[in-house]
Amino acid sequence: MKRTLKRATLQLLKSTGIFGLVRDSAWRTHRLLILCYHGISLEDEHLWRPGLYLEPSRLEQRLNFLQQGQYNVLPLGAALKQLWAKELPPRSVAITFDDGAYDFFSLAHPLLRKFGFPVTVYQTTYYSDRQIPIFNLICSYLLWKRRGTVLDKGADLGLKPPLDLTSEARRHAIVETLMENCARDGLDAWQKNEVASRLAKLLEIDYAELLSKRLLQLMNPPEIAQLAREGVDFQLHTHRHRMPKDKFLFQKEIQDNRERLRSTTPGELAHFCYPSGVYSREFLPWLAEENVISATTCDVGLAAAHTNPLLLPRIVETSGRTDLEFEGWLTGVSDFLALRRTASQTHVPRGD
Ligand SMILES: [Zn+2]
Repeated sequence: MKRTLKRATLQLLKSTGIFGLVRDSAWRTHRLLILCYHGISLEDEHLWRPGLYLEPSRLEQRLNFLQQGQYNVLPLGAALKQLWAKELPPRSVAITFDDGAYDFFSLAHPLLRKFGFPVTVYQTTYYSDRQIPIFNLICSYLLWKRRGTVLDKGADLGLKPPLDLTSEARRHAIVETLMENCARDGLDAWQKNEVASRLAKLLEIDYAELLSKRLLQLMNPPEIAQLAREGVDFQLHTHRHRMPKDKFLFQKEIQDNRERLRSTTPGELAHFCYPSGVYSREFLPWLAEENVISATTCDVGLAAAHTNPLLLPRIVETSGRTDLEFEGWLTGVSDFLALRRTASQTHVPRGD
């Protein structure tokens, strides 16, 4: 459905009272809406990646909406148990954050606390042990900062001048080349950070300042431990934010991730989120063998008791979603209308 038509339909359904009817129907009560957030902007990240980042004020607006609408925001694990037992309260919602970035610690968590909402963070751990920005993301962000320009340099970074930064596709190709060069040269995370630092210098951007602001960095183990003590539920998202097709390597990703989190978080680690929302049917028995009881995707929709617990849909929040569209999902109307689509994220953290 075209977006303008979709909005007009939603507006009509809201003004005729259908939103309220569906929201309080038995159909909606037997369903769980799982919200998916990624990052909250420390600076201007929502302008760089509107699909992944929200401004803090937008998140606050959303939480306010949940409170005003008397939605039952439940801890994910408890909500899933209630879903499967068909004992959910009306208007149930669970909030999840992917990756576990520093901006969750500094911006999102204080807001969630203010509203008293429980949250699950799917924490990827490779970059958590290293207080440096995620390489592919910081390179993309640095190039975006100089968008619109064409620079006659880059050869000493293994790039072919001129560097054309006029389109997202061209900037993305440069990031890919940088990553390929690093892989070819066998660089470790610290050496790659040095490459990012040189790229910043070439673009005349103060890299030390970005580092000190913790832009595009993950929470470190003491920060994770602190939030776990304050009630944040940390769950699995692979160690290196990737899903190898090889069973042994796939399960090692879960095991490494679990081992890192076990040292900082007291809770049971039984819930999983597919990195970048990418999944394959063959992963399901591999997850079950690792005692994973639920796994969330980025496919859009509400979860029902009959939904495969290892393929749970979510609503990925983006800067572009209007309040009306948000409410459409909260009430269940958008799911009811089958406004579903498969969403996959791009430009996500990769730990190498
Ligand atoms: Zn992720």
